[in-house]
Amino acid sequence: MKCPFCDTEMLAGYLNCGTMIWSERKHKVSMLPGLKEKYALHLEAPLLHPHYIESHICPKCKKLILDASDYENNL
Ligand SMILES: [Zn+2]
Repeated sequence: MKCPFCDTEMLAGYLNCGTMIWSERKHKVSMLPGLKEKYALHLEAPLLHPHYIESHICPKCKKLILDASDYENNL
C-alpha cells in the first residue's frame, strides 16, 4: 500500500494498544462516549488486553492507516 500523503510504500503491522476511543473531544476521565457526543468509535476488543489492530504506517511521514470497520461506534 502506498501512502496517500507522500507516496512512500507503507509497512504492515499492528497498533498495540489497550482500551482506546476515537472521539471529536478529549476523554480525560472515562472512555465511554457522552450523550452529546456526535461520534465515538471504540478501538478495543472486550476481555482482550493488550489488543492488536492491523494497520499500515508510513515510515517517512508517519501517517497511520487502520481499518476500524469491525469496531463498535455510538451511532
Ligand atoms: Zn507518507
